[in-house]
Amino acid sequence: MTDKELYERLSYKPKNAYYEMSENEIKEMLEMCDDYKVYLDEGKTERECIKISEKMAIENGFVKLEDKRRLKPGDKVYKINRDKNILLAVIGTDSPEDGFNIVGAHIDSPRLDLKQNPLYESNEMALLKTHYYGGIKKYQWTAIPLALHGVVYTKSGEKVEIKIGEKETDPVFCITDLLPHLAKDQMAKKLSDGIEGEALNILIGGMGVNSEDISEKVKFKILSILNSLYGIHEEDFFTAELEVVPAFKARNVGFDESFIGGYGQDDRVCAFTALKGIFDIDAPKKTAVCLLVDKEEIGSTGNTGMLSKFFEMTIAELTAKIMSKSDIISINNAISNSACLSSDVGAAVDPNYETVYEKNNSAFAGHGMILMKYTGSRGKSGASDASAEFVYELVNIFNNNGVVWQSGELGKVDQGGGGTIAMYVGNLNMNVIDCGVPVLSMHSPFEITAKSDIYMAYKSYVAFYKDR
Ligand code: MN
Ligand code: MN
Repeated sequence: MTDKELYERLSYKPKNAYYEMSENEIKEMLEMCDDYKVYLDEGKTERECIKISEKMAIENGFVKLEDKRRLKPGDKVYKINRDKNILLAVIGTDSPEDGFNIVGAHIDSPRLDLKQNPLYESNEMALLKTHYYGGIKKYQWTAIPLALHGVVYTKSGEKVEIKIGEKETDPVFCITDLLPHLAKDQMAKKLSDGIEGEALNILIGGMGVNSEDISEKVKFKILSILNSLYGIHEEDFFTAELEVVPAFKARNVGFDESFIGGYGQDDRVCAFTALKGIFDIDAPKKTAVCLLVDKEEIGSTGNTGMLSKFFEMTIAELTAKIMSKSDIISINNAISNSACLSSDVGAAVDPNYETVYEKNNSAFAGHGMILMKYTGSRGKSGASDASAEFVYELVNIFNNNGVVWQSGELGKVDQGGGGTIAMYVGNLNMNVIDCGVPVLSMHSPFEITAKSDIYMAYKSYVAFYKDR
């Protein structure tokens, strides 16, 4: 053996996922990514995401868990929590007490929510006040077309679903920004202060009702339009859930169409690939579970986030219905012996901002699915550290199944950091590791992912469901 050969054998070298794929896999990747773009366009809010996920589940033979009194191997079931959170399962042949194989992703994305009393008129223009949701760079949300999605309950108790700004013929909305000619003071500010939270007001109208009796003519006109379109009154904004999201559709990016650009890929890219993965599983040994949660971007709290008891309660329900008995020890065993891929996006090295990354441990777009043993920030604070035993088990599964994977820490140690659902899963006494797809421009209105990484994430979930 030459020194070169020996060196190759001993050293770790990252791989480009695309070069490792067969012609068939590339074809499958392109088809999958076309479906994925539709998923992104149809699911711009957590409610819409659950709706399209349920539709896909039904098409793939899944039935409501509530409708089943007993479960047997091969059964495919799902349960939805408050329209914002779903758990799907394919029942395995092993006892639930041996644990489940769980892939968990989140379906909420950074956005602008309408405030509770949002509508006002200023300078004969009508606007809506917003409160941003999740970590955004505020300046990225000005001067782009925006759409309004959500639900409103009218006084008569009718639930109205609103989705305006998506069809070619729909109007869109916009947050205006200052012209450079008058932005001397603004441009001298720090980037984080350039656009203030209270300046994220959305322009929604400018032609009033020409009536002497009314002072706020434009606001009046908007209220009349809203009432005739949806039957709503101003007070109904208080009960409503209305989210402002980018109005553009997901697109191929690049001459070679190697990337996908679109809103909400954090973390719908992992949600979509996790769904595709579980749809491909028929008779696993361990029960396969796909969990899509809400509220990750604001700390996983609340009754639809990872911290909700919904997850444990549904694991208990599955265990009881498979074993035809319900006792706390079986449920505890089921949870303790389960393993979870906390599937969330990671940062891809950005050629425009290389200095914030430590390249030996950062992820690259196109180098496959990222495995992150820990997240957290500044001294692993808030991290769930995956054990050597668990990581060894996973790496073997991925290597045996031709999954191209890479390690990926979120940048230089002191540069920042972030958290996922992993630590909350770990708190349940379950093995968990973060993994997912590298993203460029994460949390922006137009996030970028590489198609080959999307495919490798899907492939890793199938391998995990089949082989662990
Ligand atoms: Mn995420
Ligand atoms: Mn995020």
